[in-house]
Amino acid sequence: MLTAEIRRRFLAHFENAGHTAVPSAPLLFDDPNLLFVNAGMVPFKPYFLGQETPLWDRAVSVQKCVRTGDIEEVGKTTRHGTFFQMCGNFSFGDYFKAGAIEFAWTLITGSVDDGGFGFDPDKVWVTVLHSDDEARQLWKDIAGLPDERIQSRGLLDNYWQMGVPGPGGPASEIYIDRGPEFGPDGGPIVDEDRFLEIWNLVFMQEEITNVTAKDKFDVVGPLPQENIDTGMGLERVAYLLQGKTNMYEIDEVFPVIEKASEITGRKYGADPIDDVRFRVIADHVRSGLMLMGDGVTPGNEARGYVLRRLLRRAVRSMRLLGYEDPALPQLLPVSLDRMKASYPELEADFPRIEKIAYAEEDAFRQTLGKGTQIFESAASAIKNTGGSSLPGDQAFALHDTYGFPIDLTLEMAAEQGLTVDEDGFRALMTEQRARAKADAKSKKGAHADTSIYRSTLDAGGPTEWLAYSTLTTESR
Ligand code: ATP
Ligand code: MG
Ligand code: MG
Ligand code: MG
Repeated sequence: MLTAEIRRRFLAHFENAGHTAVPSAPLLFDDPNLLFVNAGMVPFKPYFLGQETPLWDRAVSVQKCVRTGDIEEVGKTTRHGTFFQMCGNFSFGDYFKAGAIEFAWTLITGSVDDGGFGFDPDKVWVTVLHSDDEARQLWKDIAGLPDERIQSRGLLDNYWQMGVPGPGGPASEIYIDRGPEFGPDGGPIVDEDRFLEIWNLVFMQEEITNVTAKDKFDVVGPLPQENIDTGMGLERVAYLLQGKTNMYEIDEVFPVIEKASEITGRKYGADPIDDVRFRVIADHVRSGLMLMGDGVTPGNEARGYVLRRLLRRAVRSMRLLGYEDPALPQLLPVSLDRMKASYPELEADFPRIEKIAYAEEDAFRQTLGKGTQIFESAASAIKNTGGSSLPGDQAFALHDTYGFPIDLTLEMAAEQGLTVDEDGFRALMTEQRARAKADAKSKKGAHADTSIYRSTLDAGGPTEWLAYSTLTTESR
């Protein structure tokens, strides 16, 4: 079943049940806590927070999402894309737990001829919050699930909240058992590879306050109206229904891997390290396309930096596969070709998008050309003298003189079995920023102070700054 068909079925299933289809919001959304929209509920937040009243009681959407926090997972797990599409149904004070469970169950186990996904009911496992007896009972009554396939989870895993006083409630997640060849069976769902999480149902039922952690808050009392928010990963369902073992091999993504394989002459499926590179390439090219389509341009701050990093990682992965010519002109049109059915606006906009992408690749090729030599000789000098860590001043010089972002230096060092003195690097960055600030002050520049973004990027390295987009709704 093609991804576009799964999307169509999802929308039809809920439209037939009185939901209004709401188009995806752009990836850039006006929310101070988010770099990009990272869940289907983000555009509906004002309704859930009671700040606005929706025009409908029931809505359904397929929302474009970017989760920069998942970048390191791409290609290594079977299920994480930086860009993905979250299918969701929403109830604003209308149906609650029973409705949400019934709608999800009938869609995933409904027969293919009747518009369903046709999953074998015996392969479906779910989790509920340990105290949510109601949801447990509903899974038994509605779906006939046996107790052992309804697993209890704690607040950390199965409680949804936004990290601020406001709505909260238990979640119930749906997993598909991919079979014994993917991991041990029975017992608690520990193996997230064998048991693939496809759908998260959130039951917003209470108002919470004094939120200090994901699992530390006080319950004020029931919400004036109970709401439903769900998110089903379109790519994850697609990979299962297309008989693949990961989301990078679905119809919307795989052709980029094929193209990369064709032009590099390397075979996909022959070497595990190369395979991760192929998947990173296909994922990042697609995410880059979607971000540029929504108006992001490469830059050194916040959103632009995420795009820059994605495009550069794709290009560098092509290099690691032995391809030194400009790669994006070969790959981006392939991704467009797969995505334009669902996002026709990309095609008209493509001349603009490709210009941005190819210019970014050119600039990066120049950076790489100069910096790589310097890096290589530094790395071999260190190894020759028995060292194992690149000094902070050298990482700083690569950054300052050759435009190497620290995450690139870290990645390249790791490939050589070296670490980087990040503390030393950061100290030098801080000094430099202090100098720049003093400088700007004396010039009384009228520019907005964006140094906060930059300093978060540099100080945090590749993991902490990515947490930017995880501040609120991610990993529910
Ligand atoms: P995981 O535990 O696999 O990282 P999650 O619990 O972070 O997923 P949710 O926040 O519950 O995911 O999002 C709802 C649904 O969106 C998930 O059940 C999954 O189907 C899908 N999803 C989440 N993150 C990704 C991703 N990076 N790529 C593809 N699909 C995703
Ligand atoms: Mg999860
Ligand atoms: Mg996650
Ligand atoms: Mg989840």
